[in-house]
Amino acid sequence: MSDTITLPTHTWPELKPGWVWLCGAGPGDPGLLTLHAANALRQADVVIYDALVQEDILGWAPQAEHVYAGKRGGKPSAKQRDISLHLVDLARAGKKVLRLKGGDPFVFGRGGEEAQTLVQHGIPIRIIPGISAGIGGLAYAGIPVTHRDVNQSVTFVTGHDQSGNTPGSLDWASISKGSQVIVIYMGMKHIAQIAGKLIEAGRSPTEPVAVVTTATTNDQKVLETTLGTITQDIEDAGLEPPAIICVGQSVLMRQVLDWQDLAAGNPPRNLDPLGRGRPAETA
Ligand code: SAH
Repeated sequence: MSDTITLPTHTWPELKPGWVWLCGAGPGDPGLLTLHAANALRQADVVIYDALVQEDILGWAPQAEHVYAGKRGGKPSAKQRDISLHLVDLARAGKKVLRLKGGDPFVFGRGGEEAQTLVQHGIPIRIIPGISAGIGGLAYAGIPVTHRDVNQSVTFVTGHDQSGNTPGSLDWASISKGSQVIVIYMGMKHIAQIAGKLIEAGRSPTEPVAVVTTATTNDQKVLETTLGTITQDIEDAGLEPPAIICVGQSVLMRQVLDWQDLAAGNPPRNLDPLGRGRPAETA
């Protein structure tokens, strides 16, 4: 294992004074940063980062000023406006600004709003996508977000809207019918209500669900449960946000793909959790 990484030879873009780069930091593990993110961290004068960005990632920008813009979901949008305008001020002051957000900046991250404000103020921007928790976080739990035998679509939903309530605009019945796999961001607060709506819409109370907290970090925890028992099980396990909740049969794949457990020397729990009874190579 090496302590340093040199960026591969490539013509990397330059973060110029007066620019803002909106960048995803991935779900936690610094290894899930993109090379563009690493290149940005190296050049920034100031890094404005969110609560979900792991602190050790900031160590990649020792030359920069680190500004915490922590904000949890459901807070008034005035704060969001302050952050966007702060980015405008820094850019106008001629700084090389890196706005670092957890996961992907355009997935439930308000990156679209910040980028729009910047453009409206004439600030040049670059967007650097990141690995979203709803994909990478599940992968670290051994759950493939799509699997040929399970789903041909996946729906990403947020568990609360701007006012902090379960999103009223979501048509839970349609989501329930149309999407075999549902990945819920920010779902912990209203999980009882969400699970209830899904069951009401026809999903089975025995449907498998996984809750992955602080995914991809050393503190990652995974709870395997069902729609009918999730609320109690989360409470019993003492799980806290941030959490990604995955509803659907793909959760069962963890029984064979829990690669962290396999790496620890444990055998797979079930080689054929979907009961297809065929070796993968013949498929
Ligand atoms: N832009 C981010 C999502 C921001 S919304 C992304 O693309 O991942 C914040 C929500 O993301 C959290 O409430 C949680 O549901 C999820 N999340 C982000 N990082 C996570 C992590 N490491 N583990 C589990 N959930 C995470």
